[in-house]
Amino acid sequence: DDVLVKAVHRIMSHADATRRLAVRANADTGDDAARARRFGAQGIGLCRTEHMFLGDRRELVERLILAGTEEEQEAALAALLPSQRGDFKEIFREMDGLPVTVRLIDPPLHEFLPPLEQLAVKVAIAQERGEDAAKEEALLAAVRRMHEQNPMLGLRGVRLGLVIPGLFAMQVRAIVEAAVECARNGVVAKPEIMVPLVGAVQELETVRAEAEKIIAEVVGDSGVEVLIGTMIEVPRAAVTAGQIAEAAQFFSFGTNDLTQMGWGFSRDDVEQAFFNRYLQLGIFGVSPFESIDAEGIGRLVRIAAEEGRAARPELKLGICGEHGGDPDSVHFFHEVGLDYVSCSPFRIPVARLEAGRAAVETDGSDSR
Ligand code: PEP
Ligand code: MG
Repeated sequence: DDVLVKAVHRIMSHADATRRLAVRANADTGDDAARARRFGAQGIGLCRTEHMFLGDRRELVERLILAGTEEEQEAALAALLPSQRGDFKEIFREMDGLPVTVRLIDPPLHEFLPPLEQLAVKVAIAQERGEDAAKEEALLAAVRRMHEQNPMLGLRGVRLGLVIPGLFAMQVRAIVEAAVECARNGVVAKPEIMVPLVGAVQELETVRAEAEKIIAEVVGDSGVEVLIGTMIEVPRAAVTAGQIAEAAQFFSFGTNDLTQMGWGFSRDDVEQAFFNRYLQLGIFGVSPFESIDAEGIGRLVRIAAEEGRAARPELKLGICGEHGGDPDSVHFFHEVGLDYVSCSPFRIPVARLEAGRAAVETDGSDSR
């Protein structure tokens, strides 16, 4: 066993010495982050903050989304801030010295609203019984106003941030306050704030202007440096990457949504319905949600990488969709010239190995 373990270590260190792609992890909690580090992650490439609001805190978000008055909205935000700060401190502590990309909240709205049907039934029953249902009726009306037929194409990501005042500001404040507190305790926090679902540079500019004010106010003399960047996951963002790079210090490709919107396949539904037929016909060899469709969706990645870098040579480029842990896709991202891939902690060893192999294969020979 000892011999085997040593051999594996040798292989991994060889791959690490050879590869040009850094490997980061997708992690949303301190525990995830610790696990990622054990597997050799060189940072966190995607922290999905909406995951922090599942469970107990779901109601706080619901309260915020459905708030009728400014006071209600402010109260909901004030309740969220301290818990968010705690979330980020935990992660920064685990990732001491390594970059942590925190993505501002990107929930499909339906996950945070009470189910419409259930609420409607409740109201109907109350009315039939002649009970006072004014509160439920108001809630039902509010949920109806927010209801969407296609939540995944709706009020998500940056759109939600632009519509609900104070939401992104609260998160930015929590991230930066957590980083500053860590710095005061000798922990090196390197936050990278990432805006989801951007399709137009103006969206990013709006969020960025607000974030920069908060960062300037909170950072003080702590020495904390905060980057601001964006997901590239809407096809329009990929083809306007040159403009978007003017407002972004980094891009991270969201190949899950890019595949969904590029092919027009629903991430949640479509596979069962006809993917087998497509595989049979050879339209693709594996699901494009698993392995990057190099000639289609991959071209969007390539265009955005080239145009982004042309506009801003120091632009950092990563990918944090599921494809970041898929061997063939890792080769593709190496070849496109990205700086890092980010994947689930358990897929990190494979990504490290594949990144090494890609470097050996495309660069001709092992440079050492
Ligand atoms: C993506 O779209 O590829 C992505 C990483 O974001 P999410 O899966 O959370 O939509
Ligand atoms: Mg996405």
